[in-house]
Amino acid sequence: MQEKIYTIPVNEVFSQQDGCPFCRLFEKLEAREIDTIMGAAMMEPDIRMETNRHGFCGRHLQQVSAVKNRLSLGLTLDTHLQEIRKNLFGKSLLSGKSAAAQASYLKELKQDCYVCRRIDGFMDKMFQTAVLLFERDWEFRKKLESQPFFCLPHYGRLLEAASKGLSSKHQKEFLRIAGQVEENYLNALQQDMGDFVALFDYRSSGAQPGEGSRTAIERLITLLAPGDQN
Ligand SMILES: [Zn+2]
Ligand SMILES: [Zn+2]
Repeated sequence: MQEKIYTIPVNEVFSQQDGCPFCRLFEKLEAREIDTIMGAAMMEPDIRMETNRHGFCGRHLQQVSAVKNRLSLGLTLDTHLQEIRKNLFGKSLLSGKSAAAQASYLKELKQDCYVCRRIDGFMDKMFQTAVLLFERDWEFRKKLESQPFFCLPHYGRLLEAASKGLSSKHQKEFLRIAGQVEENYLNALQQDMGDFVALFDYRSSGAQPGEGSRTAIERLITLLAPGDQN
């Protein structure tokens, strides 16, 4: 039963062919987390301890501040600021060690985010589930095969899950199918990039760019860095 929490959403995004399935899953999880954190969850002491400690990255600060519940946001950020003050100025500021410790705290804080942590934990389970479904469910293999591509950060995580969760026999099969999807897409994209660059060649002046070459740069950016998510 517990397993269905993950198999249902994974099957759902893999049933469509529209960009990277894990990016769509990420967006759903992100919207849910933002909704939850700006609702009742924000007032729960356990969760507040976590948001005080980890804070929010720039992307998620923007998203929580766009939600209408300004009181929830104000209270959460107020106690987060209290914790930052305690960490920065709670000890003596006069020693070099203290400066280094403060610098390292701020560096960690900049990379940390309560929402990113939550999503990341769920995404881990989603990658493990995709690999599990690949092993168990023939229908899922067909769905995997029919995906247009995986963005590179998510393809990396999918491979990592496969390297840990599949026997070597299944890994080979997985690499053949998922690798084929990815390689075909990269090859086609390279072709479109080549056509795009060739448009600037004086010999082709006046040529109208095809659909593929017109969208090549945007598609390559989506492949390399879909949003801020990793
Ligand atoms: Zn993706
Ligand atoms: Zn974040």
